[in-house]
Amino acid sequence: MSVSSGKASNPKTRVRRQPALGVYDRDTVYQILDEALIAHVAFAVDGSPFVIPMLVACRDDELLLHGSTASRLMRHLAGGADVCVGVTHLDGVVLARSLFNSSMNYRSVVVFGRARAMTRSEDKLEALRVFTDQQFPKRWDEARKPNDKELRATMILAVTIDEASAKVSAGPPQDEEADLELDIWAGEIPLRLEARAPVPDPLLKDLPVPESVHAFRKRFETDV
Ligand SMILES: Cc1cc2nc3c(=O)[nH]c(=O)nc-3n(C[C@H](O)[C@H](O)[C@H](O)COP(=O)(O)OP(=O)(O)OC[C@H]3O[C@@H](n4cnc5c(N)ncnc54)[C@H](O)[C@@H]3O)c2cc1C
Repeated sequence: MSVSSGKASNPKTRVRRQPALGVYDRDTVYQILDEALIAHVAFAVDGSPFVIPMLVACRDDELLLHGSTASRLMRHLAGGADVCVGVTHLDGVVLARSLFNSSMNYRSVVVFGRARAMTRSEDKLEALRVFTDQQFPKRWDEARKPNDKELRATMILAVTIDEASAKVSAGPPQDEEADLELDIWAGEIPLRLEARAPVPDPLLKDLPVPESVHAFRKRFETDV
């Protein structure tokens, strides 16, 4: 991936609006991608833009996407079309004294790349294992693996991370000096994704909550 040393190497990924929030080092970009559950995948078909939300996993310099072999998105991208993938973690709502300076705190990444479809069953299975274990640690070992029919119906795309940028907004509101004297509450409301208590399938046999569920919930533990 051509991001490094805190500078955008490509004008396409250089953050222009609020450039101070632009971050280009590999560690920041990959940390944001590694934490992602979902991504928004953008592509153009016959000049029309589309954005589709989907699950995502990150492996080395690639993003892994999976979907039906019948999916328009998957078939289109498998042909090597340009793709842009966005990942966002919303960390808080920032209320300034003025509406103009009110904003969000977030960590987001925009990736530009190309997809290739995996064709060999062994590669697809291994990608699905990585995908599952990254998102739901230990679930691959617990669950029934895809059979041949299910594997044939599933397309796995590896999107090369050719170019990427991160944008990180954190901290208190940035009010105008003159507004600081106003009697208006200002501050941040932190936000977090929460994994609540699991609800067993009504058809479930009498089984304990497995390790994967505990591991998944741990990802979203809050301190409140
Ligand atoms: C949760 C959230 C809420 C937001 N709400 C608003 C809003 O309401 N209004 C608003 O104007 N903006 C909002 N932003 C910021 C928005 O994402 C854009 O950064 C901003 O609008 C500038 O767009 P632009 O096309 O002018 O960016 P430019 O700076 O011209 O984009 C140039 C390049 O910078 C990179 N880049 C731009 N934005 C991001 C990003 N967010 N993350 C990673 N790389 C990026 C991309 O590679 C892009 O190609 C929000 C961002 C987040 C994450």
